Amino acid sequence: MLLLESREFLGGLATNGYATGVAGMIEGICKEWLHKMKADGNLIDTPHTPAVDPENGKLMLEQMALQAGARIIYGVTVADCAVDNDLIRHVIGYSRSGRMEFKGRYFTDATGDAVLASGAGVPCEVGSPEFGGLNMSSTLAFRMANANLAKYREAANAWAADPERNPDRLPFSQFYAYLEKQAVAKGDLPLFIFPAALIYQVSGTQEDDADICVMTTHSMYCHNTDAEDVTRQILEQHQQIVWVESFLRKCVPGFERSRVTGIANMHGIRDSRRAMGQYVLKDTDVATGVKFPDGIARFPEFFDTHHPTSREHGFMRHIHVAEPVDSPFCRPAPGREELMHPFVNQGGYELRVDTSDYCEIPYRCLVPLGIDNMLLAGRCLSAEFHARQPCASSRYV
Ligand SMILES: Cc1cc2nc3c(=O)[nH]c(=O)nc-3n(C[C@H](O)[C@H](O)[C@H](O)COP(=O)(O)OP(=O)(O)OC[C@H]3O[C@@H](n4cnc5c(N)ncnc54)[C@H](O)[C@@H]3O)c2cc1C
Repeated sequence: MLLLESREFLGGLATNGYATGVAGMIEGICKEWLHKMKADGNLIDTPHTPAVDPENGKLMLEQMALQAGARIIYGVTVADCAVDNDLIRHVIGYSRSGRMEFKGRYFTDATGDAVLASGAGVPCEVGSPEFGGLNMSSTLAFRMANANLAKYREAANAWAADPERNPDRLPFSQFYAYLEKQAVAKGDLPLFIFPAALIYQVSGTQEDDADICVMTTHSMYCHNTDAEDVTRQILEQHQQIVWVESFLRKCVPGFERSRVTGIANMHGIRDSRRAMGQYVLKDTDVATGVKFPDGIARFPEFFDTHHPTSREHGFMRHIHVAEPVDSPFCRPAPGREELMHPFVNQGGYELRVDTSDYCEIPYRCLVPLGIDNMLLAGRCLSAEFHARQPCASSRYV
């Protein structure tokens, strides 16, 4: 087994991208990884999103791959492949050795961007049809030291219980957005960036003096298959990291001494190409917890669609359906549609995931159309726009 990786470490977004929380995973190799990380003290084991130490996570994945018999070649960027009679004959990559060809009998596209699948001519979809093909907002994560998370939580609880500062009785989780809005009004932050801080503590550090991975920065209106647009996002977010560090230190209780200690070396692209397979997992399959005879992975969490255009909304936790479906989490759309859906008028019904249930991903979503010796893995597998995010996070391979 040969593993080609364009960077120098394994783990993709979960390690190199500092997206260290692993949501919803309930079985598979990913669970094995988390067990090993926990045994070595490199995991904060919370029920929904256990968080890995990104540096130790890279090393552990490498050990696991080598022990499983993989030969790894780092620094190879796969760019294309040669196809004959619906079979990939070899993939073409570029490295410090120059152009390389790798022959094989079976291939797996785990590039996130469906690089191999699209090179092989598998039909791909990009972005959301509701948003004119835009992708979800993107996030370049960064790492900070010296955050007092206990102090932050105390301040957020006090705010949530204070009718003067919080007359609408918003939950604890809205404290960050409240502070951000105040900072924008006072000129301490040039832009309302995102309504949540999205922070994971790094294991081995204390809650009152924590190292954290921060996923607050966001770029909107993303075209994630366009290198120039992705560069625009990265430049934008380098600027946002400077703003967020200054805002946290000046305006957020518990972060007075915090400082940026690292920026992820992998940009946080949530979605790009989705390769089409023998089955396309539907948004409604996820929302209604459909089980399949060939189900090979389960995901029990909510929709985690990061809104393509609205910083104010931040997330979309629901989808729209024209007709009501048999679910306690289906209700008539309550309005404010022009904000949530600026491009199209989406009325009808709002449908959310029942998080006490789970959806399944059928094996057919991994089997691309038109190629007989390739499987899809991770976020490029065959799914509709909203369904893709749970697929990516289920991380069954
Ligand atoms: C900011 C952010 C926060 C997130 N937060 C969470 C969270 O809290 N919980 C959760 O469960 N999920 C979260 N996710 C989602 C989750 O991280 C991803 O869905 C998941 O990492 C996708 O895994 P993947 O293996 O498909 O792709 P990736 O993690 O993108 O990995 C792709 C790998 O392929 C390599 N590669 C890419 N192209 C090539 C090429 N051409 N040649 C060779 N190698 C290549 C890359 O270097 C990388 O190692 C988050 C995502 C983002 C962006």
